[in-house]
Amino acid sequence: VSISAREFHDPTGDHAGTVLAASDVTEVVEAVRARDSFLASMSHEFRTPLTSLLGYAELLQEDPSLSPEARSDLQVMSRNARHLRKMVDNILAASVEGPTAEVQRTPLDLARLLAHAAASAVPDADGRGIAVSVEADVELPVLGDRTGLVRVLDNLVSNALKYSESGTTVTLTASREGDWAVCSVADQGLGIAPEDVERVFTRFQRSTAALQAGIPGTGLGLALAQEVAIQHGGGLECTSELGVGSVFTLRLPLAA
Ligand code: ADP
Repeated sequence: VSISAREFHDPTGDHAGTVLAASDVTEVVEAVRARDSFLASMSHEFRTPLTSLLGYAELLQEDPSLSPEARSDLQVMSRNARHLRKMVDNILAASVEGPTAEVQRTPLDLARLLAHAAASAVPDADGRGIAVSVEADVELPVLGDRTGLVRVLDNLVSNALKYSESGTTVTLTASREGDWAVCSVADQGLGIAPEDVERVFTRFQRSTAALQAGIPGTGLGLALAQEVAIQHGGGLECTSELGVGSVFTLRLPLAA
C-alpha cells in the first residue's frame, strides 16, 4: 500500500486539515518484479551465445594465413560482440542488483584492477586507432567486490573509447590522496555539456551530445558504476568539456 498525505491551510496560514490517500500498488510492484525477472533471464540467455560468438571470432584472428581485410572484419565482429556483451551485463546487473544489494568484500589492489581493465581494452583501442596510456605504478589496497569493481572500471574505459575518435589518447591513472584510492579515466573525446554532467549518472539517461552523435548505448553503465562506488563508501565523479574530453574519477577508501 502506498500512502501520501497533504496538509491544507486557511487564508491566514493556519492548519485547516490533512488529506490522506491510500492506494493499492500491488499490481505495480508485481509488474516491476516481472520486468526485472524477464530482463535477468533474457540477459542470461543472450550471454551464452554471445560469449561463444566472441570466442570464435577471437580464435579465428589467430590464423596466420588471414588476409588483412579478413582480420580487420573479424576485429569489427569481436568489438561489436564485446560491446553487446557489456550492454547485456549492465542490463543483467541493473535487474538483479539494487543500491542496497549486499557487497562481498575481499582485499584487492585497485591499481592492478585498473591495469587489467587497460590491458583488456587494448584490442578495442587498437581497432579504433586510440592510444591507451596507464600510470598505475602504485599499490591501492581496498576492501571490495571484485566483480562490481571490475565492471566499474570496464565501463569507464569502454566509455572513454566509445566516445573518442581515432588519433586520441585515453589516459588511466591510479594514485593515493590521503586515505583514498583514486583512479581516473581521461579521454579526449566527445565530452559532456555542463547541464548533462549530473544527469548521466541516472539510469537510462544519456547526454544530448551522445544522442546527436548517434553513438549507441543504454545509459546504464555510469549509474551502476556510481551505485557500486557508493556501496563501497566511495564515489564516482565527472568533469568534462564538450568537444574537449572527459575525466571520470573513482574514489574508494584505502584499506588499513
Ligand atoms: P551508455 O554509454 O551505454 O549510454 P553510460 O551509463 O555508460 O551509458 O553513460 C551514460 C551517458 O554518459 C552516455 O550515454 C553518454 O552520453 C555519457 N558518457 C559516458 N561516458 C562518456 C565519455 N567518456 N565521454 C562522453 N560522454 C560520456
